[in-house]
Amino acid sequence: MAGGRYDLVVIGAGPGGYVAAIRAAQLGMKVACIEKEEALGGTCLRIGCIPSKALLDSSELYRQAREHFAVHGIRVGEVALDLPTMMRRKDKVVKGLTGGVAALFKKNKITHVAGTARIAAPGKVVVSGREERTLEGERILIATGSEPTPLRGLDFDGRHVVSSDQALSFDEVPARLLVVGAGAIGLELGSVWARLGCEVRIVEFLDRITPTMDRELSDLLAKTLKRQGITIQLSSSAKAATILDGKVEVTVESGGKTTTEIADKVLVAVGRRPYTAGLGLEEVGVAADERGRITVNDRFETSVAGIYAVGDAIPGPMLAHKASEEGVACVERIAGQAGHVNYDAIPSVVYTWPEFAGVGKTDQDCEQAGIEVRTGTFPFLANGRARAMEEKDGLVKVIADARTDRILGVHILGPRASDMIAEAAVAIEFAASAEDLARTPHAHPTLPEAVKEAALAVSGGAIHR
Ligand code: FAD
Repeated sequence: MAGGRYDLVVIGAGPGGYVAAIRAAQLGMKVACIEKEEALGGTCLRIGCIPSKALLDSSELYRQAREHFAVHGIRVGEVALDLPTMMRRKDKVVKGLTGGVAALFKKNKITHVAGTARIAAPGKVVVSGREERTLEGERILIATGSEPTPLRGLDFDGRHVVSSDQALSFDEVPARLLVVGAGAIGLELGSVWARLGCEVRIVEFLDRITPTMDRELSDLLAKTLKRQGITIQLSSSAKAATILDGKVEVTVESGGKTTTEIADKVLVAVGRRPYTAGLGLEEVGVAADERGRITVNDRFETSVAGIYAVGDAIPGPMLAHKASEEGVACVERIAGQAGHVNYDAIPSVVYTWPEFAGVGKTDQDCEQAGIEVRTGTFPFLANGRARAMEEKDGLVKVIADARTDRILGVHILGPRASDMIAEAAVAIEFAASAEDLARTPHAHPTLPEAVKEAALAVSGGAIHR
């Protein structure tokens, strides 16, 4: 089959690529989107955000049923785990959503091309799959995403030493899981398996968990996770793994001492790196930095005119919504519109329980930048809805510029922080002051009242504290 000519050829159908393709089609472009995997949706829908949240929600319900229903006066008898059903439900959620992307492609008349893309020259993409074909595109958008970063000495074998890809699909609950890396992925998947009855130990190289988030709340989250039975070992590095009798022996160095940890599985979650293998970037002259991230200008154009890149393949936080915002901004700029991404308003969420979310600057960022701030905090312990829910852990922190009162950052550790952070992102996008947020009526009794109270506390006016 001949390839065809397009206004835009998108490589990769993750949240960067598929969202860009839809927006470009809405703007009147003729669009093709090439994807090497059978299902559309990328890491996010297939092996990332969605399956992990499906398991987090299921496992949290299981934990609630076992540990918290009794407090509410509910007796359910013996609570039992049916892991195959839990996994099937997760797969069904993924299938529904990836199928939804295919339907959106049809609706927007986007040509879905199955196969692996290589850029042969600016304007020319060769797709190998069942048959080879060449697509011509006035513009090419690279949205090929990322892959798990391997750790020297602990090579992935997919069975004993695994990445998040496999940790989303274990067919039984491991008795012991060693997680290397206390970032979002390690903490989330560690939480899933701990809630399902696994003994989880997390080994982290740094002296803290979630290194890009607010320090005070990170430390508070670490304490809460420890109370939930997860062991967290900081300032330690996993050096080597050996498989012995079906178990993994991992040597861990900490403060000059070496110990050996034995686990059924080791999840290496030390980060992700851009995935651009086989794309032909060097041959066409697309520049990347020392970490393999494609360099782009403010229009997301690479060093080669007509070739653009967004998402995990370029610098910035590796988040699905960041990829989508960039995809939209990129094609809007191509269409002559004023697409733009406000990186200060991109929230980050760690979906542990309690959840941990943040947007904008942290205390440490402000200190480093020499910005004088005023900070207001409010604990969920003093929030009526949180008490009604029996959720007393965590707090909200609002950081405002001491001179102008403009909100610089909001950080939330608490129940459904992932939902609550949205109003903080809106506040930052609209350059709101802490007083703006504090004077906005919030429904009672709700969790977001804690955000309002923290904003009030910036000027010492919290009511319920
Ligand atoms: P991807 O989603 O990786 O998509 C890239 C696509 O390109 C893939 O489908 C790939 O198959 C395809 N591709 C690559 N090369 C080629 C080629 N040569 N030809 C054709 N196709 C190609 N982010 C959040 O915001 N929230 C979360 O809760 C969250 N949870 C996560 C949980 C886990 C376990 C993981 C691993 C990630 C999570 N992320 C989360 C991160 C999120 O998944 C990524 O930031 C996001 O998917 C990046 O989008 P992207 O479009 O840049 O790349």
